[in-house]
Amino acid sequence: MTTYHPLNEAEAIEIARTLDGVFTPGAELSCREIGDGNLNLVFHISDPASGSSIIMKQALPYAKVVGESWPLTLDRARIESEALILEGKLAPGLVPAVYLYDKELALTVMEDLSDHVIMRQGLINGGRYPLFADHISTFLAQSLFYTSDLGHNQQEKKLRMASFINPELCKITEDLIFDAPYTNADTNSFENAIRDEAEALWNDGELHLEVALLREKFLTQSQALLHGDLHTGSIFITTESTKVIDPEFAYYGPMGFDIGAVIANLLLNYAAREGRDSIESQREEYRAYLIDTIKDVWSQFHSKFLALWDAHGVDRLAAAAPGYKENYMQRLLQDTIGYAGCKMVRRIVGLAHVADIDKIEDAAARERAQRLALRIGKSLIKQGRQAASIDELIDTALSAS
Ligand code: ADP
Ligand code: MG
Ligand code: MG
Ligand code: MG
Repeated sequence: MTTYHPLNEAEAIEIARTLDGVFTPGAELSCREIGDGNLNLVFHISDPASGSSIIMKQALPYAKVVGESWPLTLDRARIESEALILEGKLAPGLVPAVYLYDKELALTVMEDLSDHVIMRQGLINGGRYPLFADHISTFLAQSLFYTSDLGHNQQEKKLRMASFINPELCKITEDLIFDAPYTNADTNSFENAIRDEAEALWNDGELHLEVALLREKFLTQSQALLHGDLHTGSIFITTESTKVIDPEFAYYGPMGFDIGAVIANLLLNYAAREGRDSIESQREEYRAYLIDTIKDVWSQFHSKFLALWDAHGVDRLAAAAPGYKENYMQRLLQDTIGYAGCKMVRRIVGLAHVADIDKIEDAAARERAQRLALRIGKSLIKQGRQAASIDELIDTALSAS
């Protein structure tokens, strides 16, 4: 192809024409840039006559959100396409098919999922997805188990880790999730109305200890290949189908970070109901749905992960040592709860917020939602290391609201 430069729509169409067997030669293709993220261009290219379409995602060499002053490696496009391909093998049907990766242009061509909705928007609109917990727990169990030392030959795992060293994207997480919210950092962003809450975060030594421990684990524990950015904006959904996109933050880290991300985003929507449902009974019903979903995500993950371990475990001692499995699953739950808390806090006071809460128009309701999310997030961070069951997370959410 050609040397790196951000593509325009006409160029994207020209590249699409070169793909084998996708579009009819000579077809009149249309193209729109639909990216809503901060780091990448996303082109939707279609042939209205035949109905065929594809997505072309191109990495930009900087983070759009802060402008060209924040350079960011194009290698993340390789990491994203390799992670999608691997996840597609480990968890079939739960990620888009990848048709092409072009290194020079930092470009991935993939299946168009426009018949799905981004789950964040689906939840904001009050949608219910009865198969979500089943699908996402399968994605988590299969992708995490088979890339961990429990389910993957340990020498092969180490060799594969080399492909997923992702220092620049990890640094974004290390800084924006595990550091900035806990100090008066330039990158923080919060409304004046909750300045008291932000300052409380900066001065809470007990909280800082827990965050430092979670950060240490994120820095040092190569437990499994993570998606690394598994919020509800990275999930396409319908009532029948779930597809995980956007694994550019993939690296070998602690599994609880991915599980916690899913749960945190359900809880952020839970908090957002303050300003989303004006009728109290509706709010309570929807919150009950979210809580049930969280319980199902954890319990189904737990049983699927253990079933994989029993059937496909490759580590003799991990299978045989009395109490090891229970200990492992308990630590996983504790990490999940702690990371869920971190993921909530950063979305209220850190650099990138969530539409669930930010787009609430009524300022008083928005403030209530922000305070509720922080209350839950802080409690989860503090209770993580002691937790023995998912019910403790649920009780925290219920008693905070
Ligand atoms: P970023 O890394 O910049 O956040 P994403 O991969 O999340 O990029 O994509 C940004 C947006 O582009 C998504 O929210 C979605 O609207 C659209 N998009 C991305 N991938 C697809 C796809 N495979 N099919 C349809 N739309 C997509
Ligand atoms: Mg994204
Ligand atoms: Mg986004
Ligand atoms: Mg992304």
